[in-house]
Amino acid sequence: MTPAAGSAFNTSVAGADDLIRLHLSESPHGASKAALQAAERELARVNVYPDPERQELVRALATHWGVGPEHIAVANGSDELVLATALTLGDRNLPGLVTDGTFPGYRACLELLGRGCAAVPAAGTAVDVAGFAARLPGHGIGYLCNPHNPSGAALTRQELGALVDVCGRSGVPLVFDEAYMEFAGPDVPQTRDLTAAGDAPVVALRTFSKAYGLAALRVGYAVGRPDLIAGLRGTLRALPFSVNRLAQAAAIAALGDPDFVDGVRRSTAERRRWFVGELDRRGRAHLPSVTNFVAVAARDCARAQDRLAADFGILVRNAGLFGFPGYLRTSLGEKEDLERFLDALDEIEQNP
Ligand code: PMP
Repeated sequence: MTPAAGSAFNTSVAGADDLIRLHLSESPHGASKAALQAAERELARVNVYPDPERQELVRALATHWGVGPEHIAVANGSDELVLATALTLGDRNLPGLVTDGTFPGYRACLELLGRGCAAVPAAGTAVDVAGFAARLPGHGIGYLCNPHNPSGAALTRQELGALVDVCGRSGVPLVFDEAYMEFAGPDVPQTRDLTAAGDAPVVALRTFSKAYGLAALRVGYAVGRPDLIAGLRGTLRALPFSVNRLAQAAAIAALGDPDFVDGVRRSTAERRRWFVGELDRRGRAHLPSVTNFVAVAARDCARAQDRLAADFGILVRNAGLFGFPGYLRTSLGEKEDLERFLDALDEIEQNP
């Protein structure tokens, strides 16, 4: 099929299977067999509504995190939790705070709800963590993506600690979107490592769409203080059946197969090392990443994104459209697809 050019998300071809899909940080590793079998078993019961309270999955996640079930809320993708947090948490008379150059869902939800949205400018190609921490008091809610999309960088322990600290002191709820955390190794700090995060109004968002490879089934969850989680669950009750039977069963089975996710993490790290080596060999700059995507420097990214799609059938994201001008973001897909992407990009730049 011929893709339409020009959109940030390549939305007109988002469902296309005959193109090289490197634009949505999808996993090339598929999902755990146990998860797929669990989903398939549920096909026999498609006439039966799913559990609106998602209890078995909540319990499985609570065990996985070593917390009580009152710390967990499950939703239809972490997208739904971005909306639920914006609907539920913090002072709605004050604008939300985001960083310039981040996942666009936070601003979209805040603005949709009329909450207003202020943004802390990026410091070059990094999130201005000190600037964000300084500005959080006086806002209704904050959103930070860690590891960061589209740069791929993770916060340091000191940065994370400082943010949790200001959140605790100011009482302004802070949502850490950890959609890509499963790809980061054990050295990368996460909110669950910080005991202080238990007291502060911090919510971590996770998803089964990335490392677990279940993007089509749509399961995300929030981990946080019970009072905040109770609020989120209350909001989510407006859509009691939004997490379907196949999704709940697959997510439970996926949690029961930790070797699969460990394998995905290892092979993603290996693929990342190879890809970064390939970029260095070709003299192409890139941003350091701990995730399953890399921001690759390119000239005239809007045009490059369009030509990659139209002439080569390769979908990547123009990171400039969400705050990182001069970079195309590619998922760490199959090696041959990544090679095709780099060859095509070289060709486009040599024949502008
Ligand atoms: N947060 C970030 C940073 C993302 O990149 C994405 C999807 N690309 C999401 C949240 C939403 O993920 P999902 O709804 O599939 O869980």
